[in-house]
Formats: sequence, C-alpha cells, structure tokens
Amino acid sequence: MSCLFCKIIEGSIPSTAVYQDERCYAFADIAPQAPVHVLVTPREHIASMEATTEAHRALLGHLLWVATEIAHTKGLAKGYRLVINTGPEGGQTVDHLHVHLLGGRTLHWPPG
Ligand code: 5GP
Ligand code: ZN
Repeated sequence: MSCLFCKIIEGSIPSTAVYQDERCYAFADIAPQAPVHVLVTPREHIASMEATTEAHRALLGHLLWVATEIAHTKGLAKGYRLVINTGPEGGQTVDHLHVHLLGGRTLHWPPG
C-alpha cells in the first residue's frame, strides 16, 4: 500500500484523530491553515472526486455531514469552510479523497 492517507487510516503512520466511524476517519492536518483544520477521509481508498461513481453518493453525503458535525463540535458558530481540492490544477496533493474543514478565523475569497 503506497497511499499516505491509507497508512494514516490503518494507523501505520500516526495522526491526531478527531472523529471516526465505520466509513470515515477524520484527523488534524499536519500543516494547519487555520486554527481548526481537519481532514475527513473515507476509509475506502478513492483517489479523488474524479474517481467517484454514483455508488459513492451516500458516502459523499456522509463525509460532508461528518465535517459539519465536527464544525459544531469545534464551536465554529461564526462559520467555516469545506473544501475538496481535486486534481493538480485543483490543488490536490494527496491522492486519497479528503474534505478539508477550515475554521476559527476569517477566510478570504477567492482562494489563491
Ligand atoms: P490537498 O493538498 O491534497 O488538498 O491536501 C492534503 C493535505 O494533507 C494538506 O493540507 C497537508 O498539509 C496534509 N498532509 C500531508 N501529509 C500529511 C501527513 O502526513 N499527516 C497529516 N495529518 N496531514 C498531512
Ligand atoms: Zn488511500
């Protein structure tokens, strides 16, 4: 297995867990871009949004729901941002689907 996030999910590379269930694992980003920066990943290896099919619709909804629950747990009542970078021009650097949860500061728009 060569995927970094698969290794994090199975525990062979350490991470700071934030939430986990049978379908997903959420952990703190190693280089946080905001006071709260959590990555929500499916346990199943899916390379990116471009690798998803209709069979993943419920899982994708679950990832967004979990990210929102974490936002509530972290007290981000003033707002937060969910991001899924996709492909090289989309800024994706790890080829295992993940939802970024960013919050705890004012986030600007448009992104770089
Ligand atoms: P992407 O650029 O693919 O959207 O996001 C990848 C994210 O993974 C980046 O925010 C990066 O900081 C984070 N990351 C990369 N390697 C590791 C690691 O080994 N551990 C953790 N916790 N996060 C990582
Ligand atoms: Zn993977």
